[in-house]
Amino acid sequence: MRAMVVESPGEPDVLRLSEVPLPELRPRDVRIRVDSCGVCFHDVVTRNGTMRRGVEFPFIPGHEVSGEVVEVGPQVTQFALGQRVATAQRRHICGHCRECRGGQETSCEEREFLGDAGLNGGYAEYVNVEEDNLALVPEGVAMEDAAIAACAIGTELNAIREVGKVRPGERVLVTGAGGGLGIHGIQLARLAGAFVVAVTTSEEKAARIRDAGAHEVVVTGRGEDFSAEVRRVTGGGVDVCIDNVGSPTFQPTRKSFDMGGRWVFVGQLTGEFVKLNPAQLFFRNLSILSAKSTSRQQLRDSLELLRRGMVRAEIEDRLPLEGAVAAHRRVEAGRSVGRILLRPGL
Ligand SMILES: [Zn+2]
Ligand SMILES: [Zn+2]
Repeated sequence: MRAMVVESPGEPDVLRLSEVPLPELRPRDVRIRVDSCGVCFHDVVTRNGTMRRGVEFPFIPGHEVSGEVVEVGPQVTQFALGQRVATAQRRHICGHCRECRGGQETSCEEREFLGDAGLNGGYAEYVNVEEDNLALVPEGVAMEDAAIAACAIGTELNAIREVGKVRPGERVLVTGAGGGLGIHGIQLARLAGAFVVAVTTSEEKAARIRDAGAHEVVVTGRGEDFSAEVRRVTGGGVDVCIDNVGSPTFQPTRKSFDMGGRWVFVGQLTGEFVKLNPAQLFFRNLSILSAKSTSRQQLRDSLELLRRGMVRAEIEDRLPLEGAVAAHRRVEAGRSVGRILLRPGL
């Protein structure tokens, strides 16, 4: 099959179009013919060597996959040939530990992130995923949209609904608002009844961010302190921040909270450490929280939100497999609004 393979860490052009064998089908595997695969910032940091946990070269990136079931292993009971499916971000979970049984399989000790190790990932014609990490795509949901239901929508759903517990009328800040996660975070925060403030570094993105549902858009230069403006438009600061950026905006984000704020970390764009005096937390009674990827239930819920038209998948562009190099350049530079998809059939 054709796939984009990364042999060793480096610039986007280490992604090479290659001919590789089909990945071996294990007993609980479902083989999917890839329709669409989202290009995620996660793929940028595994490719350039910033993220090393669980990464094994060579690998085929890609964990945001939709496609058709073309083969199933002998122990597969939940899926059949011809069905349309979407992946959660994992390739394997144990299925029986406390986390897996409690719907918290994102924390399963055995979890294997899809596309981080070896020649089995979504930037390919075919990918194998164990059945516990898949959901059926409901009729009426486009395959392009289904591809990003887990990572770009489901992770924000996790952050806003489960971790942040956003309530109607609360003031919510979304950082990285023009990115693939942020643009859906705005929609979901709005859906939760929040007063939504978005921070972005791009004037061009502001209109689309407003269109996604932000009440206020704060445009700021890279490295600038946007907190005074956030406190001004919210009348004192925010109750919750869905933080898709992490270290690069850590200090201005910290100063954007009102009393009792909940700071939900979702994304981290660099490997930088940050400076924090713990007193800075309790002076404002802040809580630091984090949301990690998407459970299968959150994936199903995201697909259902798409089916009902309550959330709109923001797809910026679709490219053939070899477009991964250009896609990585655009994602790394923060130039895209919403997701870029790779479609092996193009
Ligand atoms: Zn992703
Ligand atoms: Zn488990």
